[in-house]
Amino acid sequence: MNIVLMGLPGAGKGTQADKIVEKYAIPHISTGDMFRAAISEGTELGVKAKSFMDQGSLVPDEVTIGIVRERLSQADCDEGFLLDGFPRTVPQAEALNELLADLGKKVTYVININVEKEELISRLTGRRICKVCGSSYHLQFDPPKVEGRCDKDDGELYQRADDNPETVTNRLEVNMSQTQPLLDFYEKQGVLKNVDGQKPIDEVFKAVDAILQQDEQ
Ligand SMILES: [Zn+2]
Repeated sequence: MNIVLMGLPGAGKGTQADKIVEKYAIPHISTGDMFRAAISEGTELGVKAKSFMDQGSLVPDEVTIGIVRERLSQADCDEGFLLDGFPRTVPQAEALNELLADLGKKVTYVININVEKEELISRLTGRRICKVCGSSYHLQFDPPKVEGRCDKDDGELYQRADDNPETVTNRLEVNMSQTQPLLDFYEKQGVLKNVDGQKPIDEVFKAVDAILQQDEQ
């Protein structure tokens, strides 16, 4: 079962990824991990990728796709994999289809954890940090016992500049406009499955699991 997992920041993608790989015993392949592994192993593509990253430039698609190909060719991907953070663009998705076809595989499902923008903004702006000890709270998910005060040392809680509504909204909108063409692409391919990510974590996973079960049968 070859899965591509998608979801905007704050949608809870990481949590669902952990649950999927645990239940289905397939490797969780994130772009960051793939790059780190290729670089630390000193593969030819890893060396190339590092030279771009050291210059502060984007790693070109041909290098990234080469690294993906190497990773997906490894034996632990024989029974499937969960791709996370790749592809990011339609050309990358097309390249992924081609390289999977070369390996005699295809994308089984693209699972998109769907959460409305307003909810994402509320999730992403809810973090508060203690000025004294740096402990992190969340107004919605992990609130302090006394509003505005750290449970441990009564320190004042503040919001990081990165978490303010304007910054968060801008970041989300950029992300949404980049993601939409990819969702459209996979919709046309007939592999896109949208899951309501606004429900509690376990219910979201139930919905994901129900989709993946269809393939198991
Ligand atoms: Zn504190």
